[in-house]
Amino acid sequence: MPEGDVVLRTARRLHAALAGRKLITADLRWPSLAGENLVGLEVLEVVAVGKHLLIRLEQNATLHSHLRMEGSWHVHRTGEPWRRPRTEHEIRAILANQEWTTIGHHLGMLDLVATDREHTLVGHLGPDILAPDWDLAVATGRVRDQGRRPIGLVLLDQQVLAGIGTFFMSEAAFLRGVNPWTPTSEVPRLEDLVRVAHRLMTVNVDRAVQVTTGNARKGQEAYVHARSGRPCRRCGTTIRVAPLGEPPTERPVFWCPHCQPGLVPTDDGRLIRPLGATRADPARPRRSQYRR
Ligand SMILES: [Zn+2]
Repeated sequence: MPEGDVVLRTARRLHAALAGRKLITADLRWPSLAGENLVGLEVLEVVAVGKHLLIRLEQNATLHSHLRMEGSWHVHRTGEPWRRPRTEHEIRAILANQEWTTIGHHLGMLDLVATDREHTLVGHLGPDILAPDWDLAVATGRVRDQGRRPIGLVLLDQQVLAGIGTFFMSEAAFLRGVNPWTPTSEVPRLEDLVRVAHRLMTVNVDRAVQVTTGNARKGQEAYVHARSGRPCRRCGTTIRVAPLGEPPTERPVFWCPHCQPGLVPTDDGRLIRPLGATRADPARPRRSQYRR
């Protein structure tokens, strides 16, 4: 699922292709937008807010899109052939000017709002972790205000901080040795966890592949994410995966029970120490066994 870094990179590409030019094609394949016509309008800018993309146009118009699970925007030279997706209905939007054609595939949301009403779509979001005015102390304070909610859920809550998804949450929690089910108020050095999440996402903005290990080779990119059943890169313990949160919005979370000790809920909600967890107290300071 695209996270804030991918969305910001997409916004920059769309901005480079669309901003300052008038649309000659604006094909919005979305039921609620039938009949809307943006042709002739100049695109002013394209910005990312958390995981949301805002294409701002003349005449107080903003086209909002969200990539959700598998959405993407592609950029081609206008007039040159481009590879069609397998089925035409995967295409949800085509915006083109004389030079560039941009195509939105599998978009999870598409809305047209007045630019001065954008807050109705993105006003609920917390501070954007990749925004230029990012403030670590403010962000950490918002996280801390969540009290005993599991830290993994808090980091994924776009109303607390915007931009983090399951990949960077899992990886940041691993790097800080924090079990994602730990109550936020019990996470030692909470600011360091928020700082690590911010750093991981910042360095990934300019990368095509999300990497946290420093090794972009296929299969080597992550410490725990999508590695369930495989050995932890640090201690060899089997990486686990479990749903975090309540259905239907639960998310898969990957963690090492040894490096990120603590209780996790079973299917019936009881808290247990999982297989592979050998360290006792997650909140207790410990000697750094591995390079952090
Ligand atoms: Zn481990």
